[in-house]
Amino acid sequence: MNIRIIPIGDIQPNILDIITRELNRRFKSKFILDSKINIPDSSYDKFRDQYNAEMLLNELEKIKNPNEKIVGVTSYDIYSGDLNFAFGEARKDVAIVSTNRLNPTFYGQPQNFDLLIKRTLKEVIHEIGHMFGLPHCHNHECVMYFANSVSYVDDKKDEFCKECTLKMSMEGIKI
Ligand SMILES: [Zn+2]
Ligand SMILES: [Zn+2]
Repeated sequence: MNIRIIPIGDIQPNILDIITRELNRRFKSKFILDSKINIPDSSYDKFRDQYNAEMLLNELEKIKNPNEKIVGVTSYDIYSGDLNFAFGEARKDVAIVSTNRLNPTFYGQPQNFDLLIKRTLKEVIHEIGHMFGLPHCHNHECVMYFANSVSYVDDKKDEFCKECTLKMSMEGIKI
């Protein structure tokens, strides 16, 4: 399986270089970092000053090739359904991750490149897990734990727990 990583809007390019390399090191799928696309204006909600994750996923589905999956990564703030914001959102073949609220600067903290990369990697792996059919996990250390604030992102690991790993092997999920 090929998985294309697409920056949506401006993302510090190094972040995605490092993350793509890390994903290729860990998983069997081939991760390819593609060139950036602009964020579609149509997905912008001016009342919320946020972008609609579902609409962004629709855009990614339009540019998706057969037999690949796409992870879009954006620094813009996204929301989904009733949630005030989302770190990410996934369907079967397309997913999106927003670094907006993963960035320490969002919380008035100093720039911390390593922390931003760590958090983004966790949320990218989380959405990839969903694309391959994994649900949320109750183990707060598991990457599939649903984090609704950044402290939960920090508390979890960037790996699947034993139970999720077993589930993947039983269900023949090969990432
Ligand atoms: Zn999730
Ligand atoms: Zn788990």
